[in-house]
Amino acid sequence: MAISDGEIAQVRAATDIVALISEFVALKKAGRRWSGLCPFHGEKTPSFSVNAEEGRYYCFGCRASGDQITFVREMHHLDFIDALRLLADRAGIELHEDANAGPARKERQEFLAAMDKAVEWYHDRLLHAPDARPAREYLRSRGIGGEIARQFKLGWAPDEWDALASALKLNEKVLNGTGLGFVNKRERRQDALRARIIFPIFDPSGKAVAVGGRILPSSSGHERADGRIEPKYKNSPETTIYSKRRTLYALNWAKDDIIKSGEIIVCEGYTDVIAFFSAGMPRAVATCGTALGEEHFRTMRNFAKRIVLAYDADQAGQSAAASVYQWERQHEVDVAVARLPKGSDPAELAQRDPAALRQVVVDAVPFLQFRLERVLEGANLATAEGRARAGELAMAVLAEHPSELVRDQYVMQVADRLRLESATLRPRVAEMARSGVKREIPNSPSSEGPGPPERQEIGPMPRPGLEALRLCVHFPHDVKHRLIGAYFVNDVQREIFGGLETEQPISDVIDELQRHGDDAAAHVLSRLVVDELDREYTADDVTAVIAQLVRSAVSEELKNVDRELRQGRIAPDIAMATIRDVKERMELLGTNQGDQAEQDLRTWLQERASMSRP
Ligand SMILES: [Zn+2]
Repeated sequence: MAISDGEIAQVRAATDIVALISEFVALKKAGRRWSGLCPFHGEKTPSFSVNAEEGRYYCFGCRASGDQITFVREMHHLDFIDALRLLADRAGIELHEDANAGPARKERQEFLAAMDKAVEWYHDRLLHAPDARPAREYLRSRGIGGEIARQFKLGWAPDEWDALASALKLNEKVLNGTGLGFVNKRERRQDALRARIIFPIFDPSGKAVAVGGRILPSSSGHERADGRIEPKYKNSPETTIYSKRRTLYALNWAKDDIIKSGEIIVCEGYTDVIAFFSAGMPRAVATCGTALGEEHFRTMRNFAKRIVLAYDADQAGQSAAASVYQWERQHEVDVAVARLPKGSDPAELAQRDPAALRQVVVDAVPFLQFRLERVLEGANLATAEGRARAGELAMAVLAEHPSELVRDQYVMQVADRLRLESATLRPRVAEMARSGVKREIPNSPSSEGPGPPERQEIGPMPRPGLEALRLCVHFPHDVKHRLIGAYFVNDVQREIFGGLETEQPISDVIDELQRHGDDAAAHVLSRLVVDELDREYTADDVTAVIAQLVRSAVSEELKNVDRELRQGRIAPDIAMATIRDVKERMELLGTNQGDQAEQDLRTWLQERASMSRP
């Protein structure tokens, strides 16, 4: 499968790497580069760096590095061609080979386009169709007016068999592929959703990938002809464009505020999400017809470190505790639970008292504490037996937490509350933690996909060369013409400079180095591209860096002269004269005669280099 280098370059050039990576992690501008938390390894302080101009990223923590294509490969576990296709798709570039290869991609695009049209169609029906009046009234009664309906692109699926399929002329393949409909036993096209309010579901970049539909409470009896009751919510099935395990409703709209606040609110339903937005907390998301799981955490941890579950109290308490603790640890996030007043949900509370809704998020308590409180609330603390029983239950809850340190702090709380001795409780918890809980913890999800590949360790590098290369990468026009390969005493650095001298884009230079097996050089260059320059560089600074580099190169070369002298390969008087001349000029570097000295030394080094070549 041949794709020309030109096309690869075109895709890279058309892909804004900052925008691309921002779909997964929050990047903040820091000087000339962008930085954020690495999406490839768990961390609390940002060590992931992006150079927008060169289209490169580098992680100082796990040493992940690459360009737009590498990023997509590693995030989506794709091979080169598929990653390239995805990016080409995104940029609206048609790859030459796609004309006859890549039907899967073409199909995906077709499905996305159909989903997009369907969302617009449903939306238009809700806003304008007479038959959508009850839907509009219902939404208004829940505090959702026209403005919110527009913001979330809410829609209405009319109570007809095939209104959508015929209006948009969707064929069977598209109906099945998008989950928007199907062909029934009588060989007629049929819409999947009828007489429902439509909540479109978008991916983080804002592409519609699925729809969820809610029936109107008024539409009496959702009994179908066969007597079965229609469920309240119905979502698109899994398709090639929609994965329930991964998707979070409203993440596309909530992203900015999540990043700003460092917090993400997870709700149970679409209307709860909308409630948080209208209450002034536009950082809520919801799972789509599936429980909160590992893949959701994987997505969320790239955006925020604090996850607040805004579920109905019973629901939140029942979340699989062992998994939650495991994910907390694995993804370095904190899970808290918003304590909603009994019998109320976010949608209801937002309408009645938006300030109270905001407050429950502020007052959210750690997941473990929430679970403990639930146990203690239900206990009869008036009798010794009641307290002992509550103690047993509380210990069982505590034992699920994997950290002894955390458990211990809560043991003291519980002991206080139940008027029991913490010394009695502590061994009990330890024993329960050892025996029971381990079994409940699901298999490590690391089996689901490869982690970041092994990164190469680089030995220490001579400082002057590294500094000069850094300047050469960031200010090529001021620096490159003043450097020559012979200035670099380190092989890897000389290799890198050789690449930069070719005047190719840096991504191509890195590719080339990798192709030739110069992994160390490729790696160091990847890193230099995103290196933060710690200050402004004046012309004098540049000269000083180059002087330092020249000095190191000359000193190294003088050792060679010395060796040749001792081996009798060079006449002593010539050697002595050379050494004296060279040293004199070294001292002039950085003075007002520095330019000439630099020139002379450069010439000398070049001559020496050409002599030493076989
Ligand atoms: Zn990393």
